[in-house]
Amino acid sequence: MSEQDTVDRINALLAEMPQEVASHLVQRWHQDAARMAAQADEAPPLMRGPEFPWGLKGFNAQTARFACRQPGCTMVHLEFMDELPGPLRLPANFTAEDVSAAISAQASERHQARLDRLTAVFREHYRTEHPELLEEIHGTPAPAEC
Ligand SMILES: [Zn+2]
Repeated sequence: MSEQDTVDRINALLAEMPQEVASHLVQRWHQDAARMAAQADEAPPLMRGPEFPWGLKGFNAQTARFACRQPGCTMVHLEFMDELPGPLRLPANFTAEDVSAAISAQASERHQARLDRLTAVFREHYRTEHPELLEEIHGTPAPAEC
């Protein structure tokens, strides 16, 4: 099912509800998504960030900037913090609760995937640029001296 199909189906579900119920529900989904996003904003130990140097609206909005923690190091990594990438996984006869659970599950998967990706990027950076600091910061043994 494509993302557009999913959105259409969710909108069809909402259209069948009384308007106050539907708008309350949408509000709660947004709150859930915001809470998951806030969780995702906790910076992993190797880096500082995220900052949003381009703001949260307009072109380049949602682009987060993660920077190396080491003073004087200029390494930065940019990451697109998209809101709803890919279709939600929903059962055939889904309910509002299913949508809510799917949004939370997707946000949580996305958070983990981003964390894994960021950690890999910064570990590699530390391995090449600050190998002596890896062990102390991340509990990873420094590579043996050649
Ligand atoms: Zn660095």
